[in-house]
Amino acid sequence: MQGQMMDVPLLVSSLLVHAERHHGEQEIVSRRVEGDIHRCTYRELAARARRVAKAIAALGVQQGQRVGTLAWNGYRHMELYYGVSGSGAVLHTLNPRLHPDQIVYILDHAEDQVLFFDLTFLPLVEAVAPRLATVKHFVAMVDRERMPADSRIPNLRCYEELVGAQDDDYAWPGLDERAASSLCYTSGTTGNPKGVLYSHRSTLLHTLAAALPDALDCSAGDTILPVVPMFHVNAWGLPYIACLAGSKLVFPGPGLDGKSLYELFEAEGVTLSAGVPTVWQGLLAYVDANDKRFSTMRRTVIGGSACPPAMLRAFQQRHGVQVLHAWGMTEMSPLGTVAAPKRKHMELSGEERLAMQSTQGRVVFGVDMRVVDGSGRELPHDGQSSGELQVRGPWVVSRYFKEERDPRVDGWFPTGDVAKIDPDGYMQITDRSKDVIKSGGEWIGSIDLENIAMAHPAVAMAACIAARHPKWDERPLLVVMRKPGAELTREELLAFYKGKVADWWTPDDVVFVDSIPIGATGKMLKNRLREQFKDYRLPTA
Ligand code: ADP
Repeated sequence: MQGQMMDVPLLVSSLLVHAERHHGEQEIVSRRVEGDIHRCTYRELAARARRVAKAIAALGVQQGQRVGTLAWNGYRHMELYYGVSGSGAVLHTLNPRLHPDQIVYILDHAEDQVLFFDLTFLPLVEAVAPRLATVKHFVAMVDRERMPADSRIPNLRCYEELVGAQDDDYAWPGLDERAASSLCYTSGTTGNPKGVLYSHRSTLLHTLAAALPDALDCSAGDTILPVVPMFHVNAWGLPYIACLAGSKLVFPGPGLDGKSLYELFEAEGVTLSAGVPTVWQGLLAYVDANDKRFSTMRRTVIGGSACPPAMLRAFQQRHGVQVLHAWGMTEMSPLGTVAAPKRKHMELSGEERLAMQSTQGRVVFGVDMRVVDGSGRELPHDGQSSGELQVRGPWVVSRYFKEERDPRVDGWFPTGDVAKIDPDGYMQITDRSKDVIKSGGEWIGSIDLENIAMAHPAVAMAACIAARHPKWDERPLLVVMRKPGAELTREELLAFYKGKVADWWTPDDVVFVDSIPIGATGKMLKNRLREQFKDYRLPTA
């Protein structure tokens, strides 16, 4: 027997329709590339998104075709999120920090028809434009006065003129909820980037789950500032979640340094933010150096790489900001787990709670996960057995864009992360499988070793990589960037490991560097470090 409830397709446009109807006065504040602060409401945003839908149709974009963006977090980018996906085309957000060759590859692979970009990226677009095979229209996201006078891009169009030429008399089309809505490429630290094609249905389900109290916990009372870029897995879903919840949104534009962020947090009463650890490091350095306090910020989501416990402590104990440590991937839309407490954690002491929060957390409903050993056998959730982490669920990738090969193993997507799961379901990543240090047949998790170094007051950043060893194959080498002006010797840092890990886990050596390379999504580029230190001779070798 069939149920008798309405069969309403789950569409991205329905989020904006909801925000417009029920939270129409709620504000969206953007720091623009132009330098000023722009304010609009969900009502105004919705009207402009409808004009965007008409404008791209006027450019000849058809349903299913891809529309690229190279843009910061801002209201125009948000208009494109809804105008493009809502009309049935596919929004393709590109990471401008990638190498121009990769940008050309991705734009061609996705067959983007139009490319919208912030003026910051004009030189980049000018450089790649002549090499692109499919892009027919380039649109600078500014008004007529600020259009570049003598650009090398032929027929460069002006966003405000394009949108201004349309009215907002437009009805969002009914679409198949399984139709593609947006496209993101993985950053491709190994090999070419791969496309992950989200559907309206996967996006809506992810939005519903990610907004829940034990996930990102978003409500109409919140003011959300996504530091995580809208070109990094859809800013972890926040542009969708904010519409669902009716939250106020604050977009930082290009100003991602500690001072600019702090000032915006305070000026706009931000209650929730989200970003990768490297961004928070800049913010914490600024607030600590200038003796600032957060007056409205209640919590912050930290993910993308492991959140060092030292950072958790700094936010929670020094600044009263709750940290939500989260884990996910481009292939997972991205949310998989959040380290939210269970009832039993409420009574724990600060330190015990911190141990729970340092894990990558437990799954949000919709995602299922398991760890398996080398032969694919499922391992127990005993907090000890570590193996490859696999996931499945309605917002997990089933196939990469235009690739024949099914990446799944027995229906599960292999994440490439090495993890263990405890009896309460909290998952802890010890490493990416390609970063694991294999010492005499045993595995040493580099994340633990980095977290210890990061807890030393003189350390700004630390990466632990495998160095070749004649007896043990590989041994841990710690690459460290000291805080400006701080003094720290190799011996002091190695002594700091005493009692914190088994002796044989202690790194064999420490090298101090001026900087550690950071990739396009704010992660340490350990493959680059491995290359740099490939001939390094350990003193123990
Ligand atoms: P890419 O940089 O490859 O585009 P993603 O942003 O999709 O990637 O990165 C996904 C990977 O980032 C995960 O597989 C995991 O290795 C790492 N990651 C994400 N969040 C965390 C976290 N909280 N702790 C440790 N690693 C994380």
